[in-house]
Amino acid sequence: MKITTIGIWGGYPNKNEATSSFLLEHEGFRCLVDCGSGVLAAVQNYTELRDLDAAIITHYHPDHIADIGVLQHAAMVGMQLKEWKTPFPIYAHDRDEDGFRNLSYKGVTEGRAVEASQTLELGPFEVSFCETVHPVYCLALKFTAGGKSVVFTADTAWKDELIGFAEGADLLVAEANLYEKYVGIIQGHMSGRQAGELAVRAGVKELWLTHLPQYGDILEILDAARGAFRGKADFAKIGHSVEI
Ligand SMILES: [Zn+2]
Repeated sequence: MKITTIGIWGGYPNKNEATSSFLLEHEGFRCLVDCGSGVLAAVQNYTELRDLDAAIITHYHPDHIADIGVLQHAAMVGMQLKEWKTPFPIYAHDRDEDGFRNLSYKGVTEGRAVEASQTLELGPFEVSFCETVHPVYCLALKFTAGGKSVVFTADTAWKDELIGFAEGADLLVAEANLYEKYVGIIQGHMSGRQAGELAVRAGVKELWLTHLPQYGDILEILDAARGAFRGKADFAKIGHSVEI
């Protein structure tokens, strides 16, 4: 499968960029992972919007859903032009009733509920889920296809269950929103060291850091991750595509 980094920022986008989001492709199927601020503009560098087949949302914070409204407008225009396959499916948990209801819009997009316990067949992907530790209910995602797997931690503080969930992944895309001094002070996120420790303990092949802070020197976060994980570790890089 192919993964492309759309955005890497947590909370809000840096100037002219997007919040944390990725495009996954396999056998012609294209799935957008999270759709926060700046994502709809940025993803068009890598695909026509009408060629997207699905979106999946980890939770309902604005940096993960802010561009759902404009995605719906794109789908509506696309439907009027008969260019989009509609209704366009948006997968997410439904523990936030209002958030989930808003994923469905005028027959052009359709919210489809997922459960942490299920395995979702999504085009050529098998997607499984793990509840994270975050101020709102949030699901980590594991995509498997063609014998390869990519795990997204989504937003989370450290959680032991993520070790088994990410075990043996070809790529772990881990949030690393915190400088070490904020661990235990800012809730619901991991530091670079914790992302690195997760990568070590899960035995993943490669680690990408995302959901980064806009303040401080983010190289400290990468150094902390590399201090823990001696495998291949780097920031997710905007526009960078790799075949897993
Ligand atoms: Zn969040």
